[in-house]
Amino acid sequence: MSGVSAGPATGLTRLPRVTVDRHRVSDPALAPIADKLAAGERLSDADGVALFRSPDLLGVGFMADAANRARHGDRVTFAANQHINPTNVCILRKTCVFCSFARLPKEEGAYRYSLDEVLAEAEGASGLTREFHIVGGLDMHAGLEYYAGMFRALKARYPHVHIKALTAVELAHLARIEKMSVAEILVALRDAGLDTLPGGGAEVFSPAVRATIADRKLAADQWLDVHRTAHRLGIRSNCTMLYGHVETIEDRVAHLAALRALQDETGGFLAYIPLAYHPDHNELGATLGRQGTATTGFDDLRNLAVGRLYLDNIAHVKTHWIMVTPFLSQVALAFGVDDLEGTVVREKIYHEAGARTAQSMSLDQILRLIRGAGRVPVERDSFYRVMRTFDDVPGQGAAPLEDTAHSAAAA
Ligand code: SF4
Repeated sequence: MSGVSAGPATGLTRLPRVTVDRHRVSDPALAPIADKLAAGERLSDADGVALFRSPDLLGVGFMADAANRARHGDRVTFAANQHINPTNVCILRKTCVFCSFARLPKEEGAYRYSLDEVLAEAEGASGLTREFHIVGGLDMHAGLEYYAGMFRALKARYPHVHIKALTAVELAHLARIEKMSVAEILVALRDAGLDTLPGGGAEVFSPAVRATIADRKLAADQWLDVHRTAHRLGIRSNCTMLYGHVETIEDRVAHLAALRALQDETGGFLAYIPLAYHPDHNELGATLGRQGTATTGFDDLRNLAVGRLYLDNIAHVKTHWIMVTPFLSQVALAFGVDDLEGTVVREKIYHEAGARTAQSMSLDQILRLIRGAGRVPVERDSFYRVMRTFDDVPGQGAAPLEDTAHSAAAA
């Protein structure tokens, strides 16, 4: 069933034929994949594994860049958004061992914003903000009316600002504590102002991985079903994969296959966002002896590039600079990425886990980053419609990118 009707259709278009310069691909194992791209054929799961296993990162990246350019040309989009994390109280605090953000209700550092506090945080948004990105913990005292009241109040003050809120895990939690169906929760929240859903909480769908890192979390088929339900109601969403912990290459490809299959069915995903695991201040990082380390640049780039190539029916691939640094996000623009996480005022979740990046990036910093990669910056809305194109100021590409990671660590 193809039920998505709200917003412009962006999800169902398949990747066009991609011409690859074979001299740029040195690994013979990648040759059949280049052939398929040239023929406009869908990649198999074995192709996905080959892309993840290939030592020829530049070859994989070159194919992903060609695929991205075939779809989007030189344009790189960003949105002026603000993150709000209303509560870090979470009933899964003890079982999501990769999470550094959650607290038990009486634990030091636990918080739940009042409506006034949410509005005060929203006040910090610049006048340019077009989207609130709202996610938090599974808090027994933050039910349907807590979020519906929040969305109504935000829409009353900022009617032009899009509300992208609540992961599938949070929505299923609300349905459980309110004894309602997920569809009923979604309709009530949409009536209050919810526009789209973020893609978090997917982690890696493999049951074995979930048993290790998030034993009590919403199961894979339930996560997919929440998004299927949203799409059928005309509510679009994003999708993610948390990589760089205990998952295998095969687990990654199976995860991407499930996302691609749902997109074939509904067309409701707007963008794919691979999320880099951060090992600081969480039990999993300690168990793995990984604290103080993060994913490698090699793996960050490869996850983005493989996402672009394998997910041929999802139009947009986003790099999340908060997790991988603005420097790596800039390089990622040559590895199949067409969208950059936006201005992001006051992010908590990844900074609790050790992210050393700044809390926000100004419009000027974003423009410099994109132009510095030789691309054309385009401000978009939450449905990826063009709001402004910044292609009228020549010679900006040489401006240096500010060291936001360093200045954040020094602060
Ligand atoms: S990952 Fe989400 S559900 Fe799990 S403990 Fe953290 S906030 Fe709670």
